[in-house]
Amino acid sequence: MRTLGHETAGTIAKLGSNVSDSWNVGDQAVVHLVVSCGVCSECHAGRDHQCEVANEGPIPMSYGIGQPGGTADYMAVNARHLIKLEDVDLAEAAPLADAGLTPMQAVNSVRDRLTPEATVVVSGLGGLGHVGLQIILATTGSRVVALDTDQEKVDYATQKGAIGMVSDESAAEKIREMTGGIGADVVLDFVGVQPTVDIATQVIRNGGAIRFVGLGRGEFPYIAGDTKVLPWNVNIQLPYTGTLSDLRQVVALAAQDKLHVEVERYSLDDAVTAFEDLANGRIQGRAVLVP
Ligand SMILES: [Zn+2]
Repeated sequence: MRTLGHETAGTIAKLGSNVSDSWNVGDQAVVHLVVSCGVCSECHAGRDHQCEVANEGPIPMSYGIGQPGGTADYMAVNARHLIKLEDVDLAEAAPLADAGLTPMQAVNSVRDRLTPEATVVVSGLGGLGHVGLQIILATTGSRVVALDTDQEKVDYATQKGAIGMVSDESAAEKIREMTGGIGADVVLDFVGVQPTVDIATQVIRNGGAIRFVGLGRGEFPYIAGDTKVLPWNVNIQLPYTGTLSDLRQVVALAAQDKLHVEVERYSLDDAVTAFEDLANGRIQGRAVLVP
C-alpha cells in the first residue's frame, strides 16, 4: 500500500526527539518534495534536488512517490524537509511544493539571462505554467510573451502584464518579428508537446536558453554542426523539482501576495470524487484534499 500526495502542507502535531528548537508544535510548514540526505556532495553544493541518495532511481525519492505522502491525517517528515509558512493559507501552500517549486527552479536556472532587455516565452499556462508566469513577472523586468491554445488563459496572462498570444502555427514568426528577427532569450516550455517544442526551437536566439518542463513527449533532432535545428550556444535543461532554496523563494512570494495558485478544496474523505473531477477536467487549477 502507498499513501499518495507529493504536494503537502500542514501543522506540526508532534516533534521528534532530535528536532531543533526552531520548530514548535502548531507551526505550519510546506514539505520539500525531494527526500534529500543533506550530507552528499550534491546536497553540500546546494543542489539538494539532485541528492545522490534520493536520485538512485529514475525519479527522485519523494514523499508520496516512494515514501508515504500527504493524503492522510498525519504524516512523518524529517524536519530538514520543511519550510516554515507564515501568512500563507495551508490549502494554497500545498501546491507550491511542486507547482511552485519546479517553475522556480526553471526560472532560477536562467535568471542571468532574464535582464530588462530580454524576451522570455512562457509556453502553456496550466498548473505549472501559470505559476511560472507569475514568478517571472514578480521577479524580473523582462518582456514576457505567454502562449496558450486556450483564449481564456491568454487573457489571464495579458491581465497579469504579459503579452498574451494564442499558441498556433503563426506564433513563432510573430515572436521572431517582435524581437527584430533575433529570437527569444529564454523559452520555458511547460507543455512539451510537439507544437510547443517546435516553437521553442524555432524562436530561441543564438546563445539563448530553453527549459523543457512539460513532459508531453515532443521531440527535435539534434544534428551536430547543423544550426537549422538549434542556433549556436543554446543551453537546454530539463528541470525536475527544485532545491530547498527554490522552495523558500516560492513561499516568500506567496507570503508577499505575488503568487496565487488556483485551488479547489475537497475533504480527505472525498478524495475519490476529487480524482474523478480531475480525470473529467472539472478542476480549475489544483484540487487540494483537506483532512
Ligand atoms: Zn544528498
